[in-house]
Amino acid sequence: MADSTTAQPQSPRPNLQRRGLLFILSSPSGAGKTTISRMLLAADDEIKLSVSVTTRPSRAGEIDGVHYSFVDDATFDRMVEEDDFYEWAHVFDHRYGTPKGAIRNALKEGQDFLFDIDWQGTQQLYQKDQQDVVRVFILPPSIAELERRLRGRGTDSDAVIEARMERARAEISHWDAYDYVVINEDVDACFAKVREILDAERMKRQRQTGLIPFVRELMN
Ligand code: 5GP
Repeated sequence: MADSTTAQPQSPRPNLQRRGLLFILSSPSGAGKTTISRMLLAADDEIKLSVSVTTRPSRAGEIDGVHYSFVDDATFDRMVEEDDFYEWAHVFDHRYGTPKGAIRNALKEGQDFLFDIDWQGTQQLYQKDQQDVVRVFILPPSIAELERRLRGRGTDSDAVIEARMERARAEISHWDAYDYVVINEDVDACFAKVREILDAERMKRQRQTGLIPFVRELMN
């Protein structure tokens, strides 16, 4: 924790009000988006994860409410009926969705949200809120490397890996529906590029809602 009495401001600009953004990272499984997401969350306290709801069982090490909210089918059905999702999709044998929750109000307060979702979710989120969405796609350097990374994880059977490779090819085919594409050859270099994208998007004029009074003050 930084000491608030000695911490330097992170940005040279004054504390101007800005609107938050919905920062989407997509990639085929194994291309590194989860690693990049974790690095981003650790390095930047203005962005937080949008925790998806899923019907899939938790994997070892996953915490309910942190990595996902794990729910049963009946709960998911009820949430769909009550229109609690920005978007939801079937992925493999399970369902995943983005709960609306407090996102809308938090955006106005300048809170950014990170989404680790697939192309279907990206498309739906973009349709609902084009002005706030920034879409980043992470590609593996090769298919062979992607398979090596998937096997290295050691948590899934051959059949599951085969299904994921199949799905990876399908996921990659949606690369052109994203605003930015980054090839993850080296995780640190990829992370640096993702941060540059986020920093630049925060500086977009239309997101800096505090600019009008600030500039008026400058001109007086
Ligand atoms: P996993 O089960 O490996 O955590 O995730 C499987 C896939 O589901 C990933 O491609 C991930 O991006 C996608 N996913 C996770 N959460 C959501 C969500 O809220 N909505 C959609 N559409 N996809 C999601």
